[in-house]
Amino acid sequence: MSHEQELLVVGAGPAGLSAALAARSLGVEVTLIEADARDQERPGSRALFVHQETLERLGRLAPGLGEKIAGFGILWQVARTFYRGKEVYARRYDTEQVSGLPPYASLRQLDTERFLLGACRAAGVEPVWGARVVSVRSDPNGVTVRAENGGEWRARYVIAADGARSAVRTSIPIEMDGGRSSDYRVAVDLSGEDPGGAPAERHLHYRHPALDGRNLLIVPFTGGVQVDVQCRDPADGEALSDPDAVRRWLPRVVSREQAERVLWVSRYPCLQRVATCFTDEHRRVLLAGEAAHLFAPLGARGMNSSIADAEAAATAVCLALRSTGVERARGVVEDYDTVRRQAARHNRARVEGALRHLRAESAWSRLAQAGAARLASRLPRLGAWLDKAPYGPRGPITLRGGLY
Ligand SMILES: Cc1cc2nc3c(=O)[nH]c(=O)nc-3n(C[C@H](O)[C@H](O)[C@H](O)COP(=O)(O)OP(=O)(O)OC[C@H]3O[C@@H](n4cnc5c(N)ncnc54)[C@H](O)[C@@H]3O)c2cc1C
Repeated sequence: MSHEQELLVVGAGPAGLSAALAARSLGVEVTLIEADARDQERPGSRALFVHQETLERLGRLAPGLGEKIAGFGILWQVARTFYRGKEVYARRYDTEQVSGLPPYASLRQLDTERFLLGACRAAGVEPVWGARVVSVRSDPNGVTVRAENGGEWRARYVIAADGARSAVRTSIPIEMDGGRSSDYRVAVDLSGEDPGGAPAERHLHYRHPALDGRNLLIVPFTGGVQVDVQCRDPADGEALSDPDAVRRWLPRVVSREQAERVLWVSRYPCLQRVATCFTDEHRRVLLAGEAAHLFAPLGARGMNSSIADAEAAATAVCLALRSTGVERARGVVEDYDTVRRQAARHNRARVEGALRHLRAESAWSRLAQAGAARLASRLPRLGAWLDKAPYGPRGPITLRGGLY
């Protein structure tokens, strides 16, 4: 076993890398351990959208990092909304006029992770690769962590950022509440810019006629576009993600040239779960990111809120380490639990609102969407509603006014 660390972070995804960076920026000694081997690429389509608030946050953790990510990501120039194949609303972004950090940056998660890892290395944190945590035991003085490869660590605090199937969370154990909704999505990432040289545009289709009336979102990112289909149920998701089926439906919604450039196809259920507590009984383990919550990917709440957790968790650990007295240290960690669990519940509720809107189960909501589409050219605020509602309500959700 190595000497007792101040902080051990488990998992080098967006939450873990950000937590390690935040810890370093606060002068906390940190070790970051990761199950995957070095340079192992994680396949599949994941988060694209890095919000301005996150770019600012990352800039606080590592000067210049927000600008780097923003410089690599893209802003789309137009967001178009279609209803039954007909364009009903367009929102334009003046991408030339952006000064300072842009309102968002769109890039693949693996690129965001590459920038985060670069910043960690610059801050002197190299993950311990190939160390899959299998057991975690906390006690009033700290935490003992064991990995499958025989590695063993002792730390005063642990940030569990080991994702949806968190071994740390199950070791403690902490339950998740909430369930799996019947919503299912299929995401296909396509590489390359539009061969026709078209500018980057986000397209949202309500009831796409070429997809038997399913909803569809097409989102550009640096180096490609993501095509995201809202399926009717899990069986529909399975059928639509079959490689032969993808070859049939994809050319109906993007150009033939684009349809040839499939990077990967992901099929996923919309889980809406939040841990019942973000810390253990001894207040030594702090859950962050998808180890603590899972949201359906609407409104970009997954990765953005994971990075917000990470900064808050590292700050709590720093304060707890410097606290005089056990009770104060416990209190700081309990505050983290209260604030970030509340944020996660707000996030989940907002995603639930977006899912309800997209499901349009009641005759009234279907009528409202059809009516808004019909009147949007005369009443642009109805078009704006169709454009924004699939992301869920906005507005500050935390005590400090953050959006995630
Ligand atoms: C298909 C899909 C689409 C998504 N789309 C969006 C989107 O559009 N916008 C958005 O904001 N979010 C989206 N998300 C969510 C986003 O990907 C996650 O919120 C984000 O990855 C969470 O980061 P994390 O660091 O908490 O977890 P992860 O990214 O899962 O990272 C966890 C890390 O821990 C490591 N690990 C796991 N187990 C162990 C162990 N036992 N020991 C050591 N290390 C371990 C893993 O290898 C991994 O590196 C999407 C997710 C999916 C699956």
